[in-house]
Amino acid sequence: MSLFSRKHEPHGGDQPILRLRNVAVRYESGLALDDVNFAIEPGEQVAVIGPNGAGKSTLFKVISGILKPSSGSVEIFGSHPEGHICIGYVPQRSQVDWRFPVNVAEVVMMGRVGKIGFFRRPKKRDWERVYDALETVSLADMSERQINQLSGGQQQRVFIAQSLAQEAELMLMDEPFTGLDVNSQEDIFQVIEKLRERKVTLLVSIHDLKLAAKRFPKLMLINRTVRAFGKAAEVCQSQTLLEAYGGQLHIVSDDSSLFAFDQGGHTEKELL
Ligand code: ADP
Ligand code: MG
Repeated sequence: MSLFSRKHEPHGGDQPILRLRNVAVRYESGLALDDVNFAIEPGEQVAVIGPNGAGKSTLFKVISGILKPSSGSVEIFGSHPEGHICIGYVPQRSQVDWRFPVNVAEVVMMGRVGKIGFFRRPKKRDWERVYDALETVSLADMSERQINQLSGGQQQRVFIAQSLAQEAELMLMDEPFTGLDVNSQEDIFQVIEKLRERKVTLLVSIHDLKLAAKRFPKLMLINRTVRAFGKAAEVCQSQTLLEAYGGQLHIVSDDSSLFAFDQGGHTEKELL
């Protein structure tokens, strides 16, 4: 399909917003994802957890259509992701080239390209969408700033605003909390709360288990394939976690709590 005449796929009534069937992704280095199967219903907010190299970023790239699965299928409301502009992908900050000279409003306007078409100029309505989105992420007063002058948390919110301007119904946020201080993390949670109210479906990858378990009702534990998917308490069963994290975690539990230690026994995390 041409970028210049994007056809917007219709959204079927009773289909899940997202379904993966037998998805595998093979890089030259080997299989990053294998036999991935799950469905997400509209409005769900799910934290995707798993150790480094588990395939979290690969999963988001294959859902957003940036990568094609080596086998299996990704369906958005029952059809292929290429036809959908309703998917907003917020990349990991480390994967963005921050030298690019562009201001905040321009970055957010890029989210409108799919709606406007490449050769048409943004209209008043498009700028209104952009400023609405910036309002939602509390950055309305920073619209003229160069993107590289913002803090990590603000940059993250600019990209969330881009997906909002795109009118994304499914948002994929890759490690939005990584490298942020607690206050900046809370700013992102505030935005996530607004997305919940708007029934935007959300997948968030998080490598901090405690943060995921405490703040998200539903977790998907992956390590090349889906190891567990469900309520936080169910997914945090120690055996499941140990299997997925291999040697990277040691789990200690009593009746009411679950503790995870890293290999050196240094970081102690109370999960639940
Ligand atoms: P995560 O985001 O959970 O850390 P990734 O999806 O980045 O995991 O990586 C999953 C696996 O695929 C890792 O073993 C990683 O080394 C490999 N991988 C990721 N991207 C590429 C790539 N572009 N080329 C080759 N191997 C890759
Ligand atoms: Mg990653």
